[in-house]
Amino acid sequence: MVFFEMTKTALKSVLSKPATILYPFEPAKKTDLSRGHVVFDGSKCISCGICMKKCPAQAILVTKEAKTWQIDRFRCIVCNSCVDTCPAKCLSMDTQYTAPVSVKGVEVFTITYVKPVKPPADKAGAAGE
Ligand code: SF4
Ligand code: SF4
Repeated sequence: MVFFEMTKTALKSVLSKPATILYPFEPAKKTDLSRGHVVFDGSKCISCGICMKKCPAQAILVTKEAKTWQIDRFRCIVCNSCVDTCPAKCLSMDTQYTAPVSVKGVEVFTITYVKPVKPPADKAGAAGE
């Protein structure tokens, strides 16, 4: 009985289309909700480090002194936690998967955001009130 069940399963597998695709030779299926890879916008980052603290895979490293934000693509599990928690909205999730043959492990980006200088307090105005 078990033999017949096994033969039936084997024949079904041989005669049906494969359940997997030959990615990256065939494009991966994706939707608007697909999580491809994290995208960083250095012009908005405020170097708060929240993404680094919230990343469960320790894939992000923010270095304030060097003004760099880096991600280890091999560690990232594409959980979206950094994107959800970034207060400056400078992280987003692209639906496009990175090609596995060309991806670098660690990618380093420069933080280009410059904190605006606060205008000096108007002492004369404040004293007159
Ligand atoms: S998507 Fe998840 S695992 Fe990847 S860097 Fe962001 S928090 Fe870390
Ligand atoms: S990417 Fe967002 S959460 Fe991470 S350091 Fe920059 S501003 Fe903060």
